[in-house]
Amino acid sequence: MPDTSTASVPAASPPGDCPHYDVIIIGAGMSGMYQLHRLRSLGFTVRVFEAGGGVGGTWYWNRYPGARFDSESWSYGYSFDPELLQQWEWSEHFAPQPETLRYLEHVADKLDLRRDISFNCRVRSARFDEGAGVWRIEWANGGRAQATWLITAVGPLSAPTMPTIPGVADFRGEAYHTGTWPHHPVSFAGKRVGVIGTGATGVQTIQEVAKTAATLTVFQRSPNWCAPLHNAPITAEEQQRIKASYDEIFERCRESHGCFIHKADPRKAMEVTEAEREAFYEKLYAEPGFGIWIGNFRDVLSDRAANDTLTDFIARKIRARVNDPALAEKLIPRNHGFGTRRVPLETRYYEVYNQPNVRLVDLREDPIERIDATGIRTRAGHHDLDMIIYATGFDAVTGAFDRIDIRGRGGLSLRKKWAGGPRTYLGLQVEGFPNLFTLVGPHNSATFCNIPRCIEQNVDFVTAMLAELRDRGVRRAEPTPQAEAEWTAHVNETGEKLLFTQVDSWFMGINSNVPGKQTRTFLLYAGGAPAYREKCDEVAANGYRGFALS
Ligand SMILES: Cc1cc2nc3c(=O)[nH]c(=O)nc-3n(C[C@H](O)[C@H](O)[C@H](O)COP(=O)(O)OP(=O)(O)OC[C@H]3O[C@@H](n4cnc5c(N)ncnc54)[C@H](O)[C@@H]3O)c2cc1C
Repeated sequence: MPDTSTASVPAASPPGDCPHYDVIIIGAGMSGMYQLHRLRSLGFTVRVFEAGGGVGGTWYWNRYPGARFDSESWSYGYSFDPELLQQWEWSEHFAPQPETLRYLEHVADKLDLRRDISFNCRVRSARFDEGAGVWRIEWANGGRAQATWLITAVGPLSAPTMPTIPGVADFRGEAYHTGTWPHHPVSFAGKRVGVIGTGATGVQTIQEVAKTAATLTVFQRSPNWCAPLHNAPITAEEQQRIKASYDEIFERCRESHGCFIHKADPRKAMEVTEAEREAFYEKLYAEPGFGIWIGNFRDVLSDRAANDTLTDFIARKIRARVNDPALAEKLIPRNHGFGTRRVPLETRYYEVYNQPNVRLVDLREDPIERIDATGIRTRAGHHDLDMIIYATGFDAVTGAFDRIDIRGRGGLSLRKKWAGGPRTYLGLQVEGFPNLFTLVGPHNSATFCNIPRCIEQNVDFVTAMLAELRDRGVRRAEPTPQAEAEWTAHVNETGEKLLFTQVDSWFMGINSNVPGKQTRTFLLYAGGAPAYREKCDEVAANGYRGFALS
């Protein structure tokens, strides 16, 4: 895979050299790209700083085999450019990563975005200078720049985490993290491969590696509830239909809680007979995408008894698909109900465990003791490996923020402010950090969304706000303490209604591989995208109520 960079590592700025922009954006994924386009077209001077060598964010970094959408491709692309919608043709209903990266590179070409992006530029600090009213950023090799407004577009799943297993550095075979997968082709043929992790990424990787590896050993700490993706190529007829109905597709997304094409069923699970319930679950299980998760009875994610019926249904499906009954039991989660964590969508994932070259190590009964030069030692024995794949995920939502030393008024550290859980206004600004906007940040509807739909809303809101503030001569915006407190309380209230918040997961800020991330704190916004949009519109219509402007 070629490196898509157009700029090499920028040189460190000479002492005293600190170019000034109206706006600095950190990150050139879908959020940063669209934000650059919108602000630049309104005449703002904008510079984007991106750690990677090209555009695309998630789809630039996650090149592991099997990486693909769980959102329908045609509901995921940008909606703002009718010409782009007609030009671009998705080849599959759930496109694989190379295609999505090609799409985003095409967008960057079409909008000529790269000229305002510095690649290979990992921002390590951002400090607000109160006297000058500017943000100064510094990147990894000492370069600097400043701007009146700082917008983070650093991504909810962009800070990869490694497991805290002794001996990781001792392994002498090939080792890869899925979130920083190399650009060169990686072959599994004839190799003894170990995969650590069975979340959404692990599931996609395992399905693919099992096809060619001599042996595949899956190290599973806790199983997840998976459901079939049912991917298929898009036929010429479907292509025509999709292109003719983008308005309806995006309208449907706008109306739904998470901006997917799937809308919750208005019925409750117990309102129907057992036979009707079973038939409905069968129907959803046979359909493509997230319908079984978010297009289900409206109470399956909030009512335990309702959730139990669905959980039981999925458990029976797993038992039916895995030949060895004892193995099937190991693949069935016991500590949470279906859908209360991110649901991995799969293609013959469970059937992989019927293959003779695949073996599951259940780490709950046989934990890893260490990694050594030749493989992984568990309590029960040694697994000789040629390759280890870490599918151990991300320090989600707040991780990419924590990796930058962000200082607001009086040197206040964002990392410290959020240590006990994020506090935000609309998931877009933080008290004590004037002129900082956090696209797809914690407490923002975008974190629990068919994300590009919410990215467009976030970016449109910030763009309109900056344009209006410029017209009004306002140079500083920061939420009031009251607005922040009220929004944070509201976010937590929306979470309390859901079973999510009773389970350890990245939705709840839990990551056992990251110090300080062992206490549950709700990172998402569960009030739904329509309610979130309504609130943002109302704030804007009232002169940006809740923000102190000067
Ligand atoms: C494997 C995978 C599959 C996914 N599938 C779906 C899906 O089907 N549907 C869906 O809605 N969402 C999905 N997501 C979520 C996905 O992250 C979003 O859809 C979307 O791509 C987020 O765009 P973004 O621009 O906000 O963030 P990102 O795409 O993560 O981009 C953030 C960028 O910021 C850069 N950055 C971070 N920190 C710094 C720094 N300090 N200095 C400079 N640059 C920095 C990163 O390098 C990155 O390029 C998936 C995520 C993953 C990992």
